Amino acid sequence: MSAQLTYIGLGSNLASPIKQVRQALFELSMLPLSRLVAASSLYASRPVGPQDQPDFINAVAALETHLSPLALLDQLQALEQQHRRQRQRHWGPRTLDLDLLLYGNSHISTPRLSVPHPQMTARAFVLAPLAEIAPSLNLHQQPITNWLAGIELPGLERLPDA
Ligand code: AMP
Repeated sequence: MSAQLTYIGLGSNLASPIKQVRQALFELSMLPLSRLVAASSLYASRPVGPQDQPDFINAVAALETHLSPLALLDQLQALEQQHRRQRQRHWGPRTLDLDLLLYGNSHISTPRLSVPHPQMTARAFVLAPLAEIAPSLNLHQQPITNWLAGIELPGLERLPDA
């Protein structure tokens, strides 16, 4: 299978989630048959829904991969599980969410996988980091900058590079 350029959204709302996202970026770089091409800055965002939880840290990674979409999803879910296990052992419940945002130009609609990710054009914490690493990307035939201009960015803050 030829290599495909994919984009992966990362999110964590650990009490101190920056390490978790950085570790996940490193783990993405170690996935088989794959190469990490770019990683956005980290962004802090307010939680969607209940506000009585810590802010999220988000980022987007560009990954070139020979893995099929479902094989990649398996890898992402294994990483999520790994982080959950670590969290339960040491510090109680925390989360790492990995979303497959785009897989080349593929449109996928199966019970396990929807690509492009259905909510991505409505989420500032996805669009802002994605636009940072892929500023000329089109989503549903529209420039990502148009999508970004059309949504509010309340509480979204780009963190300075480490
Ligand atoms: P969530 O924990 O809310 O991110 O949802 C995880 C579930 O969404 C899993 O059961 C996946 O099979 C499913 N899913 C569907 N499309 C995607 C996608 N593009 N990326 C990640 N998970 C997906």
